Amino acid sequence: MERSSLEALVRDNIRTLCPYSTARDEYQGPLGVFLDANESPYPTGYNRYPDPHQKALKEQLSVIKGLPAENIFLGNGSDEAIDLLFRVFCEPGRDNAVAISPSYGMYAVAAAINDVAVRSVPLGEDFSLPSRALLDACDARTKLLFLCSPNNPSGNAFPPAELEALVRNFPGIVVLDEAYADFSAKGSLRAKVLEYPNLVILQTLSKAYGLAGLRLGMAFADEYVIRLMSMVKYPYNINQATQELVSKVLAEPIGQKVAETVAQRARVAAALPAFRFVRRVYPSDANFLLVQVDDADALYAHLLADGIIVRNRSRVPLCAGCLRITIGLPSENDKLLQSLDRYEKGDIHR
Ligand code: PMP
Repeated sequence: MERSSLEALVRDNIRTLCPYSTARDEYQGPLGVFLDANESPYPTGYNRYPDPHQKALKEQLSVIKGLPAENIFLGNGSDEAIDLLFRVFCEPGRDNAVAISPSYGMYAVAAAINDVAVRSVPLGEDFSLPSRALLDACDARTKLLFLCSPNNPSGNAFPPAELEALVRNFPGIVVLDEAYADFSAKGSLRAKVLEYPNLVILQTLSKAYGLAGLRLGMAFADEYVIRLMSMVKYPYNINQATQELVSKVLAEPIGQKVAETVAQRARVAAALPAFRFVRRVYPSDANFLLVQVDDADALYAHLLADGIIVRNRSRVPLCAGCLRITIGLPSENDKLLQSLDRYEKGDIHR
């Protein structure tokens, strides 16, 4: 897609927006007597506003992710990036988005909040990517296409070549949510944002990096898209504590924890089919398993009474009878399997 076609996708009011300019935009020197932002002069550790552009953090992430800082947006979780994409590209009440179904619920919620219609396209019976149907669902007012790989709640990653073909053939913005990509052997397509201006990749520190409580989501995209998202976001969307703490944690490697989770996923997936009430364990590239059982509500209630909380997805399209089970610590997975054993033996909590 050409830059001019990309610009044509943006809402007129956003293309011409004059964004808020913070005191820190006007003066950026490190030292001085700061009398410009009406802050308190008394040190609390947090009396100064944080960097609105998160420069230091983006430089650090640039090295880890192998992309220039100009191609990185940081949000209060990926959820902020999802909302901003609707606000940048979709005219409320007029434009629409296409999304795979089942998938992460926030795409539809953010769309509804922004008064944007979502056209849900079911995955194949085996959770395969319905590429043809996704393109057929688009019309002249379709701005965004939401894909998620590995997908939540099905757990599977789609073939990278199929995802890339959609980016090439879809005439709007393809949002590829890679929240769980660190757990997948298929890896990430984020390097492709330098090749395709209409590709936005979402990642998060909430999963493999273990920082869900700090709220840091990332979007990787063409510089122009990043600039638009940055113009629309709240000026100080990433607070000082998050910027500092994330910076420290990023210095620590995650490989060992990810490897343990992947090994535990294989262990739990191998143990589950031995239970008579388990009908199907779907292959997973994420840190959870989607499991189809005889009576999802009864098993959910049993696990809950045992103090084990899983997600009942049995009312989600294509997920009848399914529970979504996050992979925990080895000791937590032990407890899960012991509780399932008790359920099988009829020692059932209700
Ligand atoms: N994308 C997907 C696919 C998710 O499953 C989740 C959280 N469950 C998120 C994004 C949200 O990520 P964050 O914590 O960064 O808002």
